Amino acid sequence: MNRKRRMYRLVRLAECFFAAAWALGAQGIPQSTAPTPTSTSAIGDTAGLAREANVWLTQLIQINTTNPPGNEQAAAKYVAGILQREAITPEILEVMPGRSAVVARLRSSAISNPARALLLVAHMDVVGAERSRWSVDPFGAVIKDGYIYGRGALDDKSMLAANLATIIGLKRANARLNRDVIFLATDDEEGGGEASIKALIAKNWDKFAAGFAINEGGEVVMKGGKVQYVAVQASEKVAVNVAVVAKGTAGHASVPTKDNAVVHLAAAIEKIGNYSAPVHFTAIVRRYFEGLAAISDDEIGKWMRSLETSDRGEHAQRVISDTNPQWGAMMRDSIAPTMLNAGVRPNVIPGEARAILNIRLLPGDTIDALLSELRKLVNDPQVRLEVQPNGGLAAPPSSLESDFYAAISKVAAEEFAGAPVLPYQSTWATDSAQLRLHNVQAYGLWPFPVTDEDLKRMHGDDERISMASFNKGVEVLARIVSEFAVAK
Ligand SMILES: [Zn+2]
Repeated sequence: MNRKRRMYRLVRLAECFFAAAWALGAQGIPQSTAPTPTSTSAIGDTAGLAREANVWLTQLIQINTTNPPGNEQAAAKYVAGILQREAITPEILEVMPGRSAVVARLRSSAISNPARALLLVAHMDVVGAERSRWSVDPFGAVIKDGYIYGRGALDDKSMLAANLATIIGLKRANARLNRDVIFLATDDEEGGGEASIKALIAKNWDKFAAGFAINEGGEVVMKGGKVQYVAVQASEKVAVNVAVVAKGTAGHASVPTKDNAVVHLAAAIEKIGNYSAPVHFTAIVRRYFEGLAAISDDEIGKWMRSLETSDRGEHAQRVISDTNPQWGAMMRDSIAPTMLNAGVRPNVIPGEARAILNIRLLPGDTIDALLSELRKLVNDPQVRLEVQPNGGLAAPPSSLESDFYAAISKVAAEEFAGAPVLPYQSTWATDSAQLRLHNVQAYGLWPFPVTDEDLKRMHGDDERISMASFNKGVEVLARIVSEFAVAK
């Protein structure tokens, strides 16, 4: 981009920020009330910081980090440059050629205590965007109607910019920390492959070892212009892919056979597609529904409270799953057939037909137990189920009794007019599972108030974030981190 255009954009951005600030009330996003003595952020001017973070978010969206191939190196250099200018020494950790992470640390004392340290995590890569289905350039960071549009506007460059603002705010304020605060920008989160956090931990754990972390994965849920509740992700389901392979006799299509692989595969997929795994409640899901029942309308609340009753439980589980498929997926292992593959010519019966199932296990459930159920269900010697490599690993949940969870709850209640904080077990996977496997109490929270409608655009078309929401989220995150990491 040439200089003139860049200046123009920055001016536009500043104008939009003021428009967005004005629109805050209209959107029902509460502005911070006058800070009370117990809730003052150590970072002074968080609103000013949010304004700067708008520019970082915009420029991060403009760096195309579609994974594959990721190319996170460019975003890593950009992030490192910003930290450098603030006299926070960044280190670029090359995981694979062209793929890097960035780490930086504010120390609380000369000798670090990893068990106390707080890690601010966000990933730099994004999923692909189908340009023809977007109304704007997915990498243009177009500003329209108080929103920033672009791939990564929510997932996860907003969090990345907010983390950057937080560490920079603490540094500028020269905050007296009671624990190290570590900034970590990761690569290959969306791919979860060779360059992902698993590899980063294996090579460089000592550079960002921490006892606590905040990452993507939970939400500030807005409905009817008001924050309804704050869902803090403390656990997540485990993704595993399974191939369904049907074998049969190959031959000329003019003479159909009973053992046609396509027919056997289709029958198996139909049975699997209609199967519903048994319901289990983990402690987190139980607490989530208890909390949600208290703020839901009477009818839904009643069914949420009946989920585990012996007489009405099964019916309640059906009502709740039908009301919101996401809720259904929180209670049981889920199976989604996602790919089909068979045949090379219209007139040839293929010898093999394959499908892929994307399975999401509840933490604690095993793929072997589920597959033995599915084998019984399919009951066809021509069909095999094969677990594919690179499945996720189950991690222990993060504690709901930790000081950090308490700090998140306290700040969220203050910032969102008493909205309750509910623990959340996400159906999607994040980098937090790997952290939890390393004894980190990791919590997922995009601190930006977001509607269901905007959430659905994540990984979809016209992804966007309301600027008012982004600015609010920057302030909320800065306050959460101050509450936990700044000495009182
Ligand atoms: Zn993400």
